[in-house]
Formats: sequence, C-alpha cells, structure tokens
Amino acid sequence: MAARRALKAVLVDLNGTLHIEDAAVPGAQEALKRQAILQVQLTNYVCNDLSFILHSDGRHLRAFSDRNMPLWHACHRFTTIVLTFGVLLKLECFMVLWEYESCLLTSKFYFSRLRGSSVIVRFVTNTTKESKQDLLERLKKLEFDISEDEIFTSLTAARSLVEQKQVRPILLVDDRALPDFKGIHTNDPNAVVIGLAPEHFHYQILNQAFRLLLDGAPLIAIHKARYYKRKDGLALGPGPFVTALEYATDTKAIVVGKPEKTFFLEALRGTGCEPEEAVMIGDDCRDDVGGAQNVGMLGVLVKTGKYRAADEEKINPPPYLTCESFPHAVDHILQHLL
Ligand SMILES: [Mg+2]
Repeated sequence: MAARRALKAVLVDLNGTLHIEDAAVPGAQEALKRQAILQVQLTNYVCNDLSFILHSDGRHLRAFSDRNMPLWHACHRFTTIVLTFGVLLKLECFMVLWEYESCLLTSKFYFSRLRGSSVIVRFVTNTTKESKQDLLERLKKLEFDISEDEIFTSLTAARSLVEQKQVRPILLVDDRALPDFKGIHTNDPNAVVIGLAPEHFHYQILNQAFRLLLDGAPLIAIHKARYYKRKDGLALGPGPFVTALEYATDTKAIVVGKPEKTFFLEALRGTGCEPEEAVMIGDDCRDDVGGAQNVGMLGVLVKTGKYRAADEEKINPPPYLTCESFPHAVDHILQHLL
C-alpha cells in the first residue's frame, strides 16, 4: 500500500452517519417503540371502555351498576384515560423529535466545520431507494449546504455501467430511483440491474431475472448490503436477493456500490486526490470502512445508524478509528489529520 500523504478529501456516508433520517438517531428507535406500546395500550383501554359504555344490549351498563360504577363515572374514567395517554403520546413524540432535531443540528454544525477546513468533502451513499435529485432536495430541505456534484451514489455508478455495456436492463429498483435511469432502454431486456426494491421482490419478477441470467445476461448489483436500518428496526438489504440469483444461476454479480474499489475511486474522480490522501466516515464497517481501507483510504467507523456492538472486529485490518458519532470523527480529523 502506498504511504499516506497529507489529507485532502473526506468522503462521508449519508444515512446512519449524518442523521438525515430519524432511524439513525441514537435513542429514537427506543422512543418510537415506547410510543408504539403506548398506542396499543391506549387502543385497548379505549376499546374496552367504549364497549362498556356503548354496548347496545345494556349488559355492560348493568355490569357497571353491579360494580357500583354509574355511567357518568365510566365516562369520566374513559376521558381521564384518553387524556392521560394523549399527553404521554404527545410527550413521546416531542422527545423523538427533539432527539432527532438535536442530532441533526449537531451534524450540520460539524459538517460546516469540515467544509470550512481545507479538505474537499464528498457524500457517498449506497442508496437505491431514491434518485439523486430527490436526495439532494431532501438534504437541502434539512438545510445542508450541498451541491449535486458533491454527491456520488451507487445508482450513478450503476447507470454508468449500463451505458458502458450498452445493455437494456430489467430495473429491480425502487420506483423512486427510476429517474436516475431516465433515457435507458428497458424493452426486450438483456441485463438485470438489482437494488433494494421490496415491492418488486416477488417470485415472478425474480424468476424472469433468473431466466435472463441463465441466457447469459449480466447481473449488475447496485450493492450487496446484508441489511439496512429502517424506522422499525433492521431489515433485509439487497444482498440476500442478489446472492439468491447468483446461487441459482451459478454466476457472479458485478457490484457497483460500496464496498467495491471502483465505487470509491469514482467518488474521488474530479477531486484531484489519491486514495492515500482521503478519509471515509461511515456507519457500515464492511461497506464503508473496509471498502475504503481496501483502496488505501483511512476508514472511520461511527457508532450510529446501523452500527452494532463489536462491528469493528468484523474487518481486518480494523478501522483506523472507531468513534461515537460524526462530530467525534470530524474533531479527530481537524485535530490530528490536518
Ligand atoms: Mg450508512
């Protein structure tokens, strides 16, 4: 590996690292779960009490009177329960929002510090669920000072490869990602492009892809992440579906997203930096950190987003640095690498 040189560029993962989704915020998941439990309890209480109060045959009204609980008392109890749970739910909502907002604000502040230093910053993401334009708009809405040419996504890399190979793919991607393939011919397909597309992952379409691959069509995987983080917890990524097609057809997918070497080299293209002059910050030990370190960058793992305990032990060599969050990573870069 080439010797390290002075730092010129920092690549930053988006989801899970910059907190642009509340699913990435530490504590938000737990608060959301508590909220869900409260909602179930509230529904149960309301339904039970309503059935007592409104039951048409009067059986429950008699039950109240048997327990010396007159109707007005039942109504009062019902109102108290609704109000109490209503307040608790509001409080939980506020806490989640507050946690999310404070993490987002901190991220933005440290992002500005990084931008204010001498390094070039690029955002690299394995997203397959939204187009680059949608992502840019979402980031701008969150008030990140960012431009389109600073974002490099795995969808961009996939489109480049489709154009280079001049193929007509079946696009197994989320509908919201389709604008990134505008102008690509998909009639009479002779290739398969696969990303994360839960709505499209059914037997019929996977079987169509399987048959094309048997006939020699190339399999282009946007990335092979095993899982990703959603608001309701971890969820299957595209990796298991790509692997199923590889297994069934005894072929190997061409992977274009992280952790592939070409992804990181393409992301640096135009910056004038060599990998030995760059650092990657991300929450995925294998895809962000391992991938970047394989091309000669330094890898910084943050313990937010999809990070799970002991993730840093999953790669060899281990991450250059493992730290709590994006702000800690920026502090380290500013203090020790510039
Ligand atoms: Mg991530």
